[in-house]
Amino acid sequence: VTAPHDRAAILSIGDELAIGQSLDTNAMWIAERCTARGIRVVEHRTVADDLAELTRAITELAARVPVVIATGGLGPTADDLTRQALADAMRESLVEDPQALARLEEIERTRGRTLTPQRRAQALRPMSARCIPNPNGTAPGLAATIAAERHACDVFFLPGPPREMHPMFDAFVAPALRPPGGRVVRTRLIRTFGLPEADAGARLGDLMRRDANPLIGTTASGGIVTVRIRAEGEAAWADAATDTAEAAVLAAVGDFVFATGERTLSEAVLDSLRARSERMVVAESCTSGLLGAMVGAIPGASDCFLGGYIAYANTLKRMDLGVPLRILDGPGAVSMEAAIEMAQGGLRRNPRAHHALSITGIAGPTGETPGKPVGTVFIARASRLNNSAHAPVDARRFLIAGDRDDIRERSAVTALGMLWHHLAHATTPKLLWQIAP
Ligand code: AMP
Ligand code: MG
Repeated sequence: VTAPHDRAAILSIGDELAIGQSLDTNAMWIAERCTARGIRVVEHRTVADDLAELTRAITELAARVPVVIATGGLGPTADDLTRQALADAMRESLVEDPQALARLEEIERTRGRTLTPQRRAQALRPMSARCIPNPNGTAPGLAATIAAERHACDVFFLPGPPREMHPMFDAFVAPALRPPGGRVVRTRLIRTFGLPEADAGARLGDLMRRDANPLIGTTASGGIVTVRIRAEGEAAWADAATDTAEAAVLAAVGDFVFATGERTLSEAVLDSLRARSERMVVAESCTSGLLGAMVGAIPGASDCFLGGYIAYANTLKRMDLGVPLRILDGPGAVSMEAAIEMAQGGLRRNPRAHHALSITGIAGPTGETPGKPVGTVFIARASRLNNSAHAPVDARRFLIAGDRDDIRERSAVTALGMLWHHLAHATTPKLLWQIAP
């Protein structure tokens, strides 16, 4: 009965998932953790809150893999059918777990309520199953072994809310897993900004061979190209192979890398600023606060982020940032000249700031003018020289692909990328979507 958990299936339970009202993040989270332990996840299945479908899914998966990890449907309402489905799949009846009951009663007492029969049902478990304590919610999880035809399958059922599920997985499920001896999977992410994905691929060349181990691949999203390294094998070998592969990737695309791991571009920019004890401001037209929001989303941003301007209308560009009328009436609000003035104005009005980023462009779907199609965006960075009033400007013209949301998001990311390249390398290469100068 102690066969290794070499293959796993993940079962996500809930009407909201099945009908497309909410996204299944639990399966992704659990799959990542199984994979890291060397357990091959062979299937994700999503089932609505339906007793017969659920019982069938549990039975089928248990017959095929040695371990199933499921989430959802353990609450106190009529659509929470997981306990009954598991009991049916195990051909056992439900019994009340005394410890789980005591914990439910305790929770109700601290809330000044008495336990209703409906809430009390959360203490039920199939006869041979065990309850998994839930420190962050009411519904306990369930652990059981289902006897299938040829083997036994260990099943773990956890509540749906990620805030409850994550600690229960780490405390109870992870230690109970039996990964196949020796083999692990090590993954590493290396994140770049400004390099088109095809160019990244060309630079990586043979490193991306599909039959290689470690396997190296890329994914692109909104201007960020992430290089993924995945090594599979014995632990010490996989660790060393991952390091070697990372060094090779850095040699190929290192001039565009802003982080290894999950770190965002905003975090990389803020870390660089903090290391230099410098501060930034933003002056935004077409992104109307998106850039500021990206920076402000990072804890501790106030060390280096002073704030900025949402200067959508021309009057605000004049009043808040001092963009001269001759520019607004001449080349226009969407122009290289306007972007330069916006960045310089932001810096001039904030003596404590070292860097200003400005964005002005046409996010569409309307508003294009001759010579300026939708997606035309001008971005400027002004940075003080030696803390003086003199601030050279790097201003660029981009033609950014996508719909309104894409163009606004990518503009903000590109502005951050311009500042990051400047901070990291003192120079900024020609970037994705850039068409001039
Ligand atoms: P349940 O345990 O079925 O009562 O689920 C309660 C809540 O957990 C749902 O309303 C969702 O907000 C969340 N949830 C359930 N399943 C998932 C899932 N697969 N991924 C992310 N969130 C989930
Ligand atoms: Mg549910």
